[in-house]
Amino acid sequence: MVVKPKVRGFICTTAHPKGCMAYVKKQINYIKSKQKFNCPKKVLVIGCSTGYGLASRIACAFGGDASTIGVMFEHPCSGKRTATAGWYNTAAFEKFAQKQGLYAKTINGDAFSSDVKQQTIDIIKSDLDKVDMVIYSLAAPRRTMSDGTTVSSVLKTVGKQYTNKTIDLKDNTVSEITIHSATPQEIEDTIKVMGGEDWKDWISALKNANAIEDDAITVAYSYIGPELTFPIYAEGTIGMAKKHLLQTSNEITKEFDNIKAYVSVNKALVTQSSAAIPIVPLYITILYKVMKEKSLHEGCIEQMYRLFGKNLALKPNLDAKGRIRLDDYELRPDVQEKVTLAWNKIKSDNVNEFADIKGYWNEFYEMFGFGLPNVDYNEDVEI
Ligand code: NAD
Repeated sequence: MVVKPKVRGFICTTAHPKGCMAYVKKQINYIKSKQKFNCPKKVLVIGCSTGYGLASRIACAFGGDASTIGVMFEHPCSGKRTATAGWYNTAAFEKFAQKQGLYAKTINGDAFSSDVKQQTIDIIKSDLDKVDMVIYSLAAPRRTMSDGTTVSSVLKTVGKQYTNKTIDLKDNTVSEITIHSATPQEIEDTIKVMGGEDWKDWISALKNANAIEDDAITVAYSYIGPELTFPIYAEGTIGMAKKHLLQTSNEITKEFDNIKAYVSVNKALVTQSSAAIPIVPLYITILYKVMKEKSLHEGCIEQMYRLFGKNLALKPNLDAKGRIRLDDYELRPDVQEKVTLAWNKIKSDNVNEFADIKGYWNEFYEMFGFGLPNVDYNEDVEI
């Protein structure tokens, strides 16, 4: 079947199998162009199929020769519906890993469930005995709790409502949006979904099953961003969850022998999750323009090479709160000064002057396997 992109809101409902393969290959080639590094060799990646988790898996496997077990929540194709991008990415990753003689297995299911935790432990015990690194890169809209109830995360402010600019990427219009404040229940639910509770549950489950090395490391991802996004991010519901994540990293380090837990604060990037946050995509398009002009732009794979190849492979460079900071270029004063100037001036009729709309869309389409070089998009492909 000939597969074309079908964009609905901030998501593309189709994915191109050959394009996703090219997308994964591009990231592998980037890692292979860098010097090999020393990283843990038996790595579990929770949320391994897209965005930061996929890039982490590629970096550890192809840069550090790691065996990897991945956990994801993706759909295979059904009838004329293509599989999700993460499903094709993972099929491609496993194929390239196998070719390179690298162990790679993936569990497709709900990472929050005890069933998927047990399936993962069974595979670890039979194939690797123990893991020595756990990467927690989940970005989920909801979580089904052990009692069967489901809680959802929301992207709202905490306290006062907030009005600022946003972009409608369908037609590049800049308008104002008001983000309403969350109820106490919504804040609590967002922390349940995106905070650290499930991360710690994973470490406990692995520890109880003797499936994690005593001196293992574990890392989860966070974001801070500039002041203009504070009300919707760092000080909003998602920010509350990220505070909980940081608190959990301290608890894990304290409670589990020699296991060391890190939070890495990453750069704002186009991913399936960040595209859903109001205000943030406009900030990202402006940030991309400024960072590209200053030759500072990085994608997920460049960030993850810095994390595993430069930071965790050596001695991690931590800030005063004990976090790894990969958002250092993004938050450089000269970058943020230019972003603020552009933010104040941007409106519908000058978006291209101040924002990298084309760059945003290129990365957006690439996430679903579209717009990659050397892929024939008019060709019939097996989905
Ligand atoms: P993403 O949407 O690209 O990836 C999410 C991953 O989680 C996918 O592999 C998906 O299959 C998996 N997943 C979702 N629900 C699941 C479930 N119930 N069970 C199993 N797997 C599930 O997201 P991303 O942007 O790469 O985000 C990963 C982490 O990085 C998040 O914690 C996010 O907050 C953080 N982060 C993102 C940015 C950004 O700008 N994108 C910046 C800094 C930090």
